[in-house]
Amino acid sequence: AQEALLQSQKMEAVGQLVAGLSHDFNNVLGAVVGAFELIRRRMHEPDKVRHFSEAGLQAAERGSRLTAQLLAFSRSQDIQLQPILMRDVIEALADLLRRTLGPMIALELRFDPSPAPVMADPTQVEMMALNLAINARDAMPDGGRLTISTALRTIAGDPEMRDGDYVEIAFADTGTGMDEMTLRRAMEPFFTTKPVGKGTGLGLAQIYGSVRQAGGTVRIDSVLAQGTEVRVLLPCTDRAPMPIEQGEPEVAAAL
Ligand code: ADP
Repeated sequence: AQEALLQSQKMEAVGQLVAGLSHDFNNVLGAVVGAFELIRRRMHEPDKVRHFSEAGLQAAERGSRLTAQLLAFSRSQDIQLQPILMRDVIEALADLLRRTLGPMIALELRFDPSPAPVMADPTQVEMMALNLAINARDAMPDGGRLTISTALRTIAGDPEMRDGDYVEIAFADTGTGMDEMTLRRAMEPFFTTKPVGKGTGLGLAQIYGSVRQAGGTVRIDSVLAQGTEVRVLLPCTDRAPMPIEQGEPEVAAAL
């Protein structure tokens, strides 16, 4: 019964989410169509064409983010935890991460020399990394650096988590940072400081939910005008890591 209740609450949340996203998505499509129309009319003015192409591209990107969020939300129902190395997932995703960050932001990867496998769903880890990279990018409009690192942590006596070994994967940016209120509320569903259509406020909430389900937790440190570090802890496993397919991950299709 408890499970059925959770399921129905989830369906209700999905309903609200779909209504909100459809509305946002319609606005996004309007912006894309508008940009194309303007380009067609101003075909012979290169400056205008460039400007409207940029606007159209940005709108299309917002649309991709919305569908990716929806995908992540629906996927969160059938997660498949398996032993994986964080390093494998991030390496397979590195090209896509670099493209997402753009030329103004450097991506630095620092992996633990003796990595331990964790129990996690590879698609969820991909979504998580992309979401955190997009957040970092949005916080660094003038460029900067995103450092993704992994480290082994031993947790003991933490009321939130079982004692044991965890892999910590940290996303540290040199961006705007968060004020106190934003930091406090960042993981709440639908909390966003981004303009309508750009932020859904679901990224961190989604990450927190799936990481807690996997027996881990998420911690955020942030200093205004200096940057933000999001640390995700996932429990280690004794099982041998399964290989991650190389090439464009499944999630890339949604972005
Ligand atoms: P969204 O990105 O759609 O707003 P999130 O749940 O991912 O939703 O983030 C919620 C809010 O947390 C963001 O709107 C932003 O204010 C803040 N935030 C998240 N990541 C960062 C970051 N790396 N630097 C600064 N602020 C951040």
